[in-house]
Amino acid sequence: MHTLQQLPYPYNALEPYIDEQTMRIHHDKHHQAYVDNLNKATETNPELQKLTVEQLLRDLNKIPENIRTPVRNHGGGVWNHNFFWQLLKKDVGEPKGALAEAIKKRFGSFEKFKEEFTKASMSRFGSGWAWLVLAKGELEIYSTANQDSPISEGKAPLLCNDVWEHAYYLKYQNRRAEYVAAFWNVINWAYVEKNFAAAMK
Ligand code: MN
Repeated sequence: MHTLQQLPYPYNALEPYIDEQTMRIHHDKHHQAYVDNLNKATETNPELQKLTVEQLLRDLNKIPENIRTPVRNHGGGVWNHNFFWQLLKKDVGEPKGALAEAIKKRFGSFEKFKEEFTKASMSRFGSGWAWLVLAKGELEIYSTANQDSPISEGKAPLLCNDVWEHAYYLKYQNRRAEYVAAFWNVINWAYVEKNFAAAMK
């Protein structure tokens, strides 16, 4: 049985960039629904119920075909949101140390990195996520559709932004660009630095 991971901060901790009402609905309703639907999808497969979400997503080909799509969608929804909540923190600034160096080396500058990540967030048509991952030892920015997770492609997620409308519509309505711009004020770079260090090992 999977359970909903609690938010590591109060619902209003990210105001005004991400509002309290959005956080309440996003976490308590949307994220909860992914947890419930993942449990429902695996309820007839006791051996799958013993696995973590990450284990389920790592090799989707091992999931029986009749439940592969719901496991991919709802498992991705569970894992991606677990990851997303942890990397949000208000007014942290910019990355430091080895991650800052790697970003500069790969993208030219932090500003160029922001441009490219913003482009990935804006060009995702419909619902999905923008990601910074480590893949084959290189930093990579890209986006996934729906709840697809880099975990399923063997990539190590470092940072992501949820660009589903449910992540921003109450406050920003159709203005995804404003939400994506506000996102730079709520990134917990210490967490991203930790992910980078772990992925480089
Ligand atoms: Mn979401």
